Amino acid sequence: MNIERIKKCQNCGRDLPIEARFCPYCMTKLIDEDGTIIKKTSVNRKRNIFIIIAIILV
Ligand SMILES: [Zn+2]
Repeated sequence: MNIERIKKCQNCGRDLPIEARFCPYCMTKLIDEDGTIIKKTSVNRKRNIFIIIAIILV
C-alpha cells in the first residue's frame, strides 16, 4: 500500500513521499505537481460548497 504514497523525482529518479514538495537528494522543487493537485482540490471544494448551498436553498 505504501507504493501509492511514493512518487519518483523527475530529476534523480529517487523515491519520495507523495507529500514531498522538493527532493532532499537533489533539491529539485516538485511544486508543479502539488500545485496542480491543489488547484483541483480547490475547485472541488468550491463545487461542494455551491452544491450544499443549492440544497439548502431548495
Ligand atoms: Zn531528486
